[in-house]
Amino acid sequence: MGLSKESVNYKIAKKKTLRCSTCDFYYPPGAQCEIVEGNISPDAVCDRWFIGGRSSNVAKGPEFYKRQRRKVA
Ligand code: SF4
Repeated sequence: MGLSKESVNYKIAKKKTLRCSTCDFYYPPGAQCEIVEGNISPDAVCDRWFIGGRSSNVAKGPEFYKRQRRKVA
């Protein structure tokens, strides 16, 4: 069971670098995300956006993801 879109502030992305299409959790063939439920747009983004590795980072807390986003924002 993945996270709901509401719980991770899923929304249309404003920045080109910071969106689902560049996130390591995104699976383009099925428009799916490894950790967030439902159909995922490549042009959206959420609070768990991450680059730098997949499953080992699923369990990190919100501050971890915030630091990752600041690196590219
Ligand atoms: S974790 Fe968030 S930003 Fe990354 S693909 Fe999933 S929904 Fe998009």
